[in-house]
Amino acid sequence: AGTPVSESDAQAKSLGYVANASKADKAKFPKFAAGQACSNCSLYQGKTGSTSGPCPIFAGKDVAAAGWCSAYVKKA
Ligand code: SF4
Repeated sequence: AGTPVSESDAQAKSLGYVANASKADKAKFPKFAAGQACSNCSLYQGKTGSTSGPCPIFAGKDVAAAGWCSAYVKKA
């Protein structure tokens, strides 16, 4: 597994990334809907059932399967 994305990284902050989707800033990111998480985002590249994996938005680092950011795109 790679280095986890830190919520305090500048890019993570600007995109509202959180390792626990339930902690998403719903006031700042009203597009967030319950149930959304990296594991069901089309950009998530972790294996099914993994707890973390790569995401091209955060190149070189791993995001949490249970995480979320405002670049979320529902997996088709
Ligand atoms: Fe998670 Fe998708 Fe944001 Fe990547 S783009 S951090 S997989 S919600």
